[in-house]
Amino acid sequence: MELDKMDENDWKYHGEGNKSLVVSHLQHCQVLRLLKFPSEDSAHTRQTAEQAFRHILNIVDYSKYVMKPLLGEKYVHSGEVVKLPLDFVRQLSLKVQQERPELRCDKVMDTFSGCGLCLPNLTQLPLHHLRDHRPPICVEIKLANGKWKRLSRYCPLDLFSGSKQRMYVALKNLLEEPQNNLKIFKGGELIFSCKDDAKQQPELNDLIQHLRPYFPHSNGLYNGHQPGKAVLNEFIQVICSALLSGGDSNRSGEPRKVHLSESRPLCEASPFPRDLLRNGNHGLPKDSVLAKILQVQMLDNLDIEGIYPLYKRVEQYLEEFPKERNRLQIDGPYNESFMDTVKNCPTEDDGSVEYAVGKVHQYRVAMTAKDCSIMITFAPCEEDEEHQLNLEKPRFTYSISILDLDPKPYEGIPHQYKLDTKIVNYYLRSTQAPP
Ligand code: ATP
Ligand code: MG
Ligand code: MG
Repeated sequence: MELDKMDENDWKYHGEGNKSLVVSHLQHCQVLRLLKFPSEDSAHTRQTAEQAFRHILNIVDYSKYVMKPLLGEKYVHSGEVVKLPLDFVRQLSLKVQQERPELRCDKVMDTFSGCGLCLPNLTQLPLHHLRDHRPPICVEIKLANGKWKRLSRYCPLDLFSGSKQRMYVALKNLLEEPQNNLKIFKGGELIFSCKDDAKQQPELNDLIQHLRPYFPHSNGLYNGHQPGKAVLNEFIQVICSALLSGGDSNRSGEPRKVHLSESRPLCEASPFPRDLLRNGNHGLPKDSVLAKILQVQMLDNLDIEGIYPLYKRVEQYLEEFPKERNRLQIDGPYNESFMDTVKNCPTEDDGSVEYAVGKVHQYRVAMTAKDCSIMITFAPCEEDEEHQLNLEKPRFTYSISILDLDPKPYEGIPHQYKLDTKIVNYYLRSTQAPP
């Protein structure tokens, strides 16, 4: 990317979340991730170019030195900070404005700092040459249950169960009710997602039409009855296989067999797979992307009720010794030394501020792993290609990545605590209410 020759016509709107807006390059497998801020922020409260640069550098460092070693080299792409011409950013912002969903327009793209994050476009397969006319399909699964008003039947407990049947159910529920937890791309273009209005479900039949050419032999299955179902079935199997595939073929990591009829507590829109986190004996293959993510989520073994008093301990200490904030790396830098604190935090509370800081760091890292997205990108491949999903026909070449690995702010902890107290009180009230 030649930063002095940036042209907004080479880029198009790709998507956005709560914190950033992403544009993709029309020819190259690259995206730019740009920060957003509330539109009511005045020039006064807005972060300076210097602060924006630091902010993005923190995101890159956190991904590189903390999340990547924990989640595995192959799954994490940290990208690099770029300084873009302001003229380019302003033109780009105007260009993408009409593509943005209304619900996201309470925030505006940062057109002041010129700072951005350059990443590979993970919805594409860079080494997928034009040998096949079928472009890559990418499935993006966001792990946290969103902020939607309706309860979803999608349960992260099922997804992380390691049981193919339960994973199948989780993915099927996601397809039927994606809310903001599922997006599907074809050749880098979004073809399936939930629009802003949660009441409106995307059309599964349209998705089936898109997927048909990738599963040609399933069109004749079921004696021609409901061939669409067969296509979806195969599609879900591919996603499951990818999610369970790992670096090595350690057989001991074979998924446990759990039958669907087995009774289990219903997931009442639980934000995290708490039960799995607590008992830790999951049935996921060791190197699978799900096992990696679960393992990092498990760094939070105290829950917010246990973390909040430790946060207060840190706060009290900082009140007395404000200069210690830097040494304790409360706001970064997120480097190897921060990572050491995360890894080497003692298991027993010795009453020290070091223990409290270590636990708080661990909690924040776990929170990042609870809020990230998995991207599975696959395309039909030829027999001799590497990294194949070993399915009976058809065969796919695939790549899995974990994205959206930003640090969660230290200041967010009291908010999390309040939220949790609210939920607990609500639960207590609803269970103790007279009939
Ligand atoms: P959230 O609100 O979930 O925290 P965010 O504001 O942090 O989101 P991202 O999730 O990083 O932003 O990016 C928004 C969307 O842009 C993603 O859901 C994904 O669809 C797309 N995206 C982000 N990074 C990439 C990438 N490297 N390649 C392809 N698409 C990407
Ligand atoms: Mg996101
Ligand atoms: Mg995010």
